[in-house]
Amino acid sequence: MAEFKQTACILCSENCGLEVEIKDGHMARIRGDRKHPSTQGYLCEKAQRLDYYQNHADRLLQPLRRRENGSFEEVSWDTAIQEIPENHLHFRHPILEAPDGPLAEQEIYLRLSKTIGADFATNPLLGPMAQLQQHPAMADLSEEMRVAAAPILMASMMYVEKHSEAVKRAGIQGEGPELGVALFQEIISNLSGVAISLHEYEDTFSLIETEDGKIHLVVESMLNWINELQDESATPVESSQYPFVLSAGERRSSNATTTYRNPLWRRTDPEGALHIHPEDAASLGVQDGDRLVCQSERGEIEVTAEFDEDLRPGHVTLPHGFGLAYAKEGEERQVHGPLINLLTASDHCDPVAKTPYHKHVPVQLSKIVV
Ligand code: SF4
Repeated sequence: MAEFKQTACILCSENCGLEVEIKDGHMARIRGDRKHPSTQGYLCEKAQRLDYYQNHADRLLQPLRRRENGSFEEVSWDTAIQEIPENHLHFRHPILEAPDGPLAEQEIYLRLSKTIGADFATNPLLGPMAQLQQHPAMADLSEEMRVAAAPILMASMMYVEKHSEAVKRAGIQGEGPELGVALFQEIISNLSGVAISLHEYEDTFSLIETEDGKIHLVVESMLNWINELQDESATPVESSQYPFVLSAGERRSSNATTTYRNPLWRRTDPEGALHIHPEDAASLGVQDGDRLVCQSERGEIEVTAEFDEDLRPGHVTLPHGFGLAYAKEGEERQVHGPLINLLTASDHCDPVAKTPYHKHVPVQLSKIVV
């Protein structure tokens, strides 16, 4: 009788429980482990092919180095490790004229800082970048390219301050700021990328910038916060005013390609509906397709309800990427779908990284009666 051994799949973070029959050093049969407490026999198709990944004739067993003609040659591990420290950088250059409207990232920051009244001339990052647009190294660039290239010049200057020897080993010549300018010119004039530094293998540990030269895996502030989570009563999930938990920004069938374009591209979920459990909908007197107001402490938006039995009662979701304004030829721009950022608040956030709790927004829902 075949003997199956219990193990777990490590192809993704679900770590589904597996039972595997081994024959002649191969995983002859693979099935889901029904006794696994969380995955209970589930297995996706990737795990069913584990033996194929493990023993396929084309599986890489040695490092490969690309030859100049694009083919590959096997090299030893020692050679691979010696060659890895060559650092390459590749900025994509514009291949089309930008239409009127889109701005370089740097220009967006400058305009934002002006709008909020920040003095960007004295900002330690933005101030020097505005000056760098006038640097002689920019002389041959258009006004637009100067804006986009200033951060690269600044990064080049900062990089050579730390890694001048490694930059010179990559064949870039100069001293001090001149080396930074030379590096910048190499970067912007090589359309297919360029080696910007070549570190010796021995340099590796000197690149760790902590005082004791060790990598610190413990982030005290994060652990303190995780410990506080143990007392769940300290963070009430619901309130009578905002009884639902909204996951704002659910990934559904749309991606940037469809949300940026004509809304007709989105044949599924064209309105970016609010998914709600039928029991919750019944308690609000709401039918599938009804319009609702979804209100958080920060703001409110109108949404369309869609029943979803896979949700837990009390939990509702709205999709990511909607709320963009799209204009058909000759028409005014119109916003399509829920603009979820109106519901999230920047101060209701993770205390360490300051990321707003997009996936945990207390909201209330009310039916729009017409
Ligand atoms: S079986 Fe599929 S879902 Fe489960 S851990 Fe493996 S890859 Fe992930």
